[in-house]
Amino acid sequence: MSENFSMTIDGRAVDAPATFGVINPATGEVAEQAPDASREQLDAAMASARDAYAGWRGDESARRKALLAAADVMFARSEEIGRILTLEQGKPLSEGTMEVVAAGVWLKYFADLELPREVIQDDGNALVEVVRRPMGVVAAITPWNYPLLLATWKLAPALLAGNTMVLKPSPFTPLSSLKLGEVLRDVLPPGVLNVVTGGDELGSWMTSHDVPRKISFTGSVATGKRVAAAAAPDLKRVTLELGGNDPAIVLEDADPAAIADKVFGGAFQNNGQVCSAIKRVYVPDSLYGDVVDALAERAKAVKVGDGMEDGVQYGPINNRPQYERVSELVADALAGGARAAAGGRPIDGPGYFFEPTILADIEDGARIVDEEQFGPALPIVKYTNVEDAIARANGTHFGLSGSVWGADADRAAEIAGRLECGTAWVNTHLALAPNQPFGGFKWSGVGVENGPWGLYGFTELQVVHRSKG
Ligand code: NAD
Repeated sequence: MSENFSMTIDGRAVDAPATFGVINPATGEVAEQAPDASREQLDAAMASARDAYAGWRGDESARRKALLAAADVMFARSEEIGRILTLEQGKPLSEGTMEVVAAGVWLKYFADLELPREVIQDDGNALVEVVRRPMGVVAAITPWNYPLLLATWKLAPALLAGNTMVLKPSPFTPLSSLKLGEVLRDVLPPGVLNVVTGGDELGSWMTSHDVPRKISFTGSVATGKRVAAAAAPDLKRVTLELGGNDPAIVLEDADPAAIADKVFGGAFQNNGQVCSAIKRVYVPDSLYGDVVDALAERAKAVKVGDGMEDGVQYGPINNRPQYERVSELVADALAGGARAAAGGRPIDGPGYFFEPTILADIEDGARIVDEEQFGPALPIVKYTNVEDAIARANGTHFGLSGSVWGADADRAAEIAGRLECGTAWVNTHLALAPNQPFGGFKWSGVGVENGPWGLYGFTELQVVHRSKG
């Protein structure tokens, strides 16, 4: 593959004065170049979004039609864009393609979602309505794990509500978003969606820019705090979807053989690079050995390799800093006395490959239990008393999601309800849907995405009070 990936500003293809290399994580080599936007180009994108706003906000039915057309483009071009995702992100081709299809599903969902207009009083005195108004220009900033899908989680509701957008993907995965801008040039009026690429600095130019009224950010806790601080002087609205350290609590009545596939999938999907993946598992003494063995068996059996190759289930870690971080956290756990029931080491050769790793005989306090590893290594922690397990699950600044596993689903649901997190799953994990609000407690975020609640995050409430007196 070698093509010219251009930015989209005011509906046109725009190259930047400079470019930066995008690495294929399966080889560690630069695969493509992406534009490195200048400050003037960001200004042009913001001005274009601001100018497009007046027309775009005025025609709800045109917006719905455009979102449906955008969904169709995703479905029609899923393989082509899926290849780009695999090239820059590393995930298997089938998952890259599925991510594009999912982006289409999300666009379709929002195209049909109602923008409510509620009458709260209608009597002899007044007609009082509460309506949802768009905010203006939205600055959208995304991470590298699901670049296209997470862009759509912002784009679809923001545009439906009548906002316009400037989108900046991660410098590790800019190509799929550049392609998104390109394929939507014929679908959206100029300026409604601008896509710019560059380094982290471009993100900070966006959050301190005077045009956007809203920042929709997905990424790490550390950057999320910087975004919130940058937004404060201008009182820009923010939605922050940040990191997680999701606990899974296995109860004594669970059947290790029956839950192992789902627990493994919930932890290792996208090679563990999911904000709401299972990142630590709490298991009672009586089941500990069986759960460790069942998960280790699966970790040893999966096929890791270049996502472009047939039959590969797990690709590389997306980028060198993350690969080094996962390597360091696993080495630290092993040095501290943990046992690698499966994996435990980087895979020799080019690319950022790491063995799917199950860590046993490990406790809270180990860095890989307390911190977000965001990679293919899962610590399994033993507990004696379930109250203690719940306290340990909650004993963190994170609060994205969590799950509880057991044969008695009512009891599992009761315990899940005590987890301090935005999504509490029972006998499943990572079950996400467009109509289900997704967000974090505590440091895992501010606000939610998806469902009507996610849509409201791209609106301001307005009261229209008509006096009849
Ligand atoms: P990151 O915070 O390093 O970067 C995210 C984005 O922010 C990138 O586009 C980056 O260029 C930009 N950025 C960096 N510095 C900035 C600044 N000062 N101002 C504005 N923008 C800036 O995160 P990452 O490493 O790309 O992604 C991994 C993290 O994202 C993990 O912590 C993961 O849990 C989290 N995540 C959360 C969700 C969620 O929905 N809650 C989803 C996916 C990933």
